[in-house]
Amino acid sequence: MKLKEELYKIEDMLKKDIEKVSDYIFKNPELGCEEYKACKYLIENLKENGFRVQENYCGMATAFRAEIGSGSPKIAFLAEYDALPGYGKEKMPGHACGHNWIAATTYGSVLALSKLAEKINGTIVLLGTPAEETIGGKVPMIEQGAFDDIDIALQMHLESENNIACRTLAIDCLKFQFEGKAAHAAAHPEDGINALDALNLMFAGIGCLRQHITSDARIHGFISYGGNAPNTVPDFTEAKFHIRANNREYLNSLTNKVINIAKGAELMTGAKLSYEKFENSFDNLLNLTTLQSLMKKNLEELGIKDIKTEGNGATGSSDIGNVSQVCPTMYTELALDIDEVCHVHDEAYLKYVNSEEAYDKLHKGVKAMCGVALEIFADKELLKNIKAEFNNHKKIK
Ligand SMILES: [Zn+2]
Ligand SMILES: [Zn+2]
Repeated sequence: MKLKEELYKIEDMLKKDIEKVSDYIFKNPELGCEEYKACKYLIENLKENGFRVQENYCGMATAFRAEIGSGSPKIAFLAEYDALPGYGKEKMPGHACGHNWIAATTYGSVLALSKLAEKINGTIVLLGTPAEETIGGKVPMIEQGAFDDIDIALQMHLESENNIACRTLAIDCLKFQFEGKAAHAAAHPEDGINALDALNLMFAGIGCLRQHITSDARIHGFISYGGNAPNTVPDFTEAKFHIRANNREYLNSLTNKVINIAKGAELMTGAKLSYEKFENSFDNLLNLTTLQSLMKKNLEELGIKDIKTEGNGATGSSDIGNVSQVCPTMYTELALDIDEVCHVHDEAYLKYVNSEEAYDKLHKGVKAMCGVALEIFADKELLKNIKAEFNNHKKIK
């Protein structure tokens, strides 16, 4: 494809500009919903390059939408830029998940494509999506219609393997509270209602449930408040749980079972139960074979080998899952060629996410995502096939 060759050359010329973004965000790590510097930096650069930018997008201070070109299709690249807490001696925020690299790959992609805007039929969009590691900023963005007019969403993440068949789990995050009645634990225990007994029974019930759940599912939690004195019957306790599974339908039934166990603990002890979500629920990632083979071809054209095409084993959850349920999404993981065995979120991973090796994969990632976008922009039939596959999945549900 001639346009792709042209794009590769443009990307080569923009290398330093793109690396600068990774470097700046890496050196200025900010936690979720506080990514003010990253956001400002990206927005300034986008404006300088002729993009139309909406700030405070969807009412979120660190979300934005930038676009160039016009009409459809609209292809969106999803930037992330939040860091994780607790690195180094000072326990400071750090980009151990490599979101500096995500910001740079997505920014780099729209920047490179913008130089070809005249030759593209459609709109190139960069969505700044905050707080992936905490609240999952994409969830309120979806609720407010940020993806309603987007035809395709693209993102890449650093990982231990090259993977076009990533699996992420649907997740519900629930907080359970029990309210009992305090009493002297030795002198008048008969007057008390033990809120900690309720929690203990809940943990025991979940322990029994674990035998009867599918192997992909996970239920894990901790007691966030368990009482304040051994000689007083605890009158208030609280636990937080993450409940996860391969798909939303099964997870809904599982979450219901966990709630029923809590209700049972309430009945057994008389401690009053209340529960609520303490973080946004995420859906599982929906992969589309049409997009996967397109990405695989584009990665191979760039010399990337050993691409996993089947789901990974144990995994986490991400708000990109929610995006994939409302808009055809291609989420790809790229591996760094390093000898040390370490993974995203490890402290040791910090030294790699802004390295020369990360830059090498950064440029390949930009070229591959742009290649995919250019093929979709150029071929209406291809977009139709992707949408048909997506709608078919929705129908099966
Ligand atoms: Zn992460
Ligand atoms: Zn991440």
